[in-house]
Amino acid sequence: MSKTNFEFTDDIMYLKGIGPRFAEILKKKLNIKTMYDFLTHYPRDYEDQRKITPIGNLEVDDSVVIVGRLSNLNKRETSRFNIITGILSDKTGHIPLTWFNQDYVYDKLENGIRLVVIGKVKLDSYSGMATMNQISSFHALDSGEMPLLGILPIYPATAALSQNFFRKAMKNLLDKMPPQPEILPAQIMTELKLMPLDKALRAIHFPKDFAELENARRRLAFEELFSIQCGLMLIKRQEQDDRLGIQHKRNGKLVKAAKEAIPFELTGDQKKTFRDICKDMQEKLPMRRLVQGDVGSGKTVVAMLALVKTVENGFQGAFMAPTEILAVQHFEKFSALLEPLGIKIALLSAKITSSKKMREEIYKKISNNEINIVIGTHALIQEGVQFKKLGLVVTDEQHRFGIAQRAALEKRSELIPDMLVMTATPIPRTMTLTVYGDLDISLIKHLPPGRQPIKTYVRTKTSRKQIYDFVRSEIFAGRQAYVVCPLINRSDSEKLQKLDPATEMFEMLSKNLFSDVKCALLHGKMKPNLKDAIMESFRAGEIKLLVSTTVIEVGVDVPNATVMVIESAERFGLAQLHQLRGRVGRGSEKSYCILVSNSKKDIAKARLEIMESTTDGFKLAEADLQLRGPGQFFGEEQHGLPDLKIADVFRDEELLITARAAAEKYVTDEADLNYYSELRKNLALAYGNKFSQITDA
Ligand code: ADP
Ligand code: MG
Repeated sequence: MSKTNFEFTDDIMYLKGIGPRFAEILKKKLNIKTMYDFLTHYPRDYEDQRKITPIGNLEVDDSVVIVGRLSNLNKRETSRFNIITGILSDKTGHIPLTWFNQDYVYDKLENGIRLVVIGKVKLDSYSGMATMNQISSFHALDSGEMPLLGILPIYPATAALSQNFFRKAMKNLLDKMPPQPEILPAQIMTELKLMPLDKALRAIHFPKDFAELENARRRLAFEELFSIQCGLMLIKRQEQDDRLGIQHKRNGKLVKAAKEAIPFELTGDQKKTFRDICKDMQEKLPMRRLVQGDVGSGKTVVAMLALVKTVENGFQGAFMAPTEILAVQHFEKFSALLEPLGIKIALLSAKITSSKKMREEIYKKISNNEINIVIGTHALIQEGVQFKKLGLVVTDEQHRFGIAQRAALEKRSELIPDMLVMTATPIPRTMTLTVYGDLDISLIKHLPPGRQPIKTYVRTKTSRKQIYDFVRSEIFAGRQAYVVCPLINRSDSEKLQKLDPATEMFEMLSKNLFSDVKCALLHGKMKPNLKDAIMESFRAGEIKLLVSTTVIEVGVDVPNATVMVIESAERFGLAQLHQLRGRVGRGSEKSYCILVSNSKKDIAKARLEIMESTTDGFKLAEADLQLRGPGQFFGEEQHGLPDLKIADVFRDEELLITARAAAEKYVTDEADLNYYSELRKNLALAYGNKFSQITDA
């Protein structure tokens, strides 16, 4: 064993057994760059290989590990199968090996090599002999190499790298890793009976037994949740320590007038949410509230009232929308309701800010407090705008922006403004605590009355004709339709041969079945002006059929659109499908969502069936998380925090609650400030600049 130590931040290339070529693959395929990334590339599963069974002792139906020398390698084709066979022998006997339809296996085999084979012994129905034809994994041993034994890790891998590669490299890393000092507070360690860090890091990869494995997992999961919670609380505390918040007065005439101007009665959930908001705004501490509500549940009206409240108190409000189209839409709605009450609203759009004169005029009015409410995209509001008295910032669909960005805007005013975040992503409670641990939460659960539920159907490509005939009939009944296609990463050579799916679909539909209907294509790569013009024309009802990529995912209100066809639906996340589907069913007509998929995979089918069975975003999210695991639900860029490496939002709910309570205690305990420096280092290591706000402190 070598004694050479390394730093966790060292390039993974320098680990024995890796080198530049494999390092490149690790970086590209798995985003593993450093020793630390590799160490925390935790196994997704394990296989029990604690002992090798002598071949002479094998019995039918045993699941075993055998080691022997390969001979009689052969490949043949029958009408139904491609079959690879060989014979594995050790000192005690021999057994036939068979692989069906796994051609790639052949290249890894050669007569005379030593193999470790894991699988199940079966009676071959043809020859009547014991054989191994259910081989779950195998790998070749170098000459003189001893097979690894124990409960062996199975890593999230990629085709170019074998499990054996990962196992050997991980062993090398652990051999060279100096003993890791404990970083969790001693009291927590004792109270929760947690395994020491050093032991846990080793045991998670190569556990002695399953009990040790579970303890290692629990410890690492706790640490992960605890670090994130501490990080979020530090952010919150720092904000609260730094500057004073604004204490708004109780609601007066203007808020009352705005409520009366709204053409409908608020739902119970909306009223409750607005009460939560008012209570926060009337306190000295800055409001940090998340309003979570399904697409179309009516979050925007509530946010509008909160903006009126800040205006009533002499402050200004900013409303940040995720896209320009949405900003325009909100601006029109707000203006219609609030201008008559004397509230001045400005739209910061790309058009306006591209003219220097207009931009400067608006900026001046904002800095004089002549404008009460500013609506724009996140980017536009963040840019050079100086508010005279910013009282409230509303961020719509915040999960698209990072936590750090959220703070950037408010940094520029003397008093710390209240902050309201709205999201339509149905995040389960446990996940909310993890991702939005620094926010208080209000829920809008029930949709406003009178909505027609959206009917969802899963269909295969063979039904295309019927599907599009139906779309046609809706269009001829006066309605509009969306067709959504996935984005596919194609290599340059493929791009030359094939159009991307949306363009291909558009060509096919607009030239054939819909040649007499006004169709348009909307694509993320188009110029913003063109995109806006197309969206505007669709909103105005001129374009009847809109073929697009997911650019339409976020919030445009076209109540006359009643059908959405989603092609290759299995390629989308459930959260995304739900968000897309929310584009229809916004008016009083019955709406339909048709998911087209030819996927044969059970999990893909199961996911689409959930879409068919419910329109409740929360149920969907939970079902999706259970099917796929938490890792892939959001995707990092969507919530600004990295996906969890080891904790599981379902399994570890209790651990999360414990971690949050522990973090609350530690972050408010003045005596423990030293501990933060350790924690900061750790957060930086694990999550990079995601917590730069506190790690820079
Ligand atoms: P969200 O922002 O949550 O997606 P919106 O605030 O855009 O939802 O509301 C969706 C639609 O429902 C809008 O047309 C809005 O005017 C309408 N709406 C909101 N609240 C109510 C309500 N309480 N009763 C009837 N219609 C409502
Ligand atoms: Mg909205």
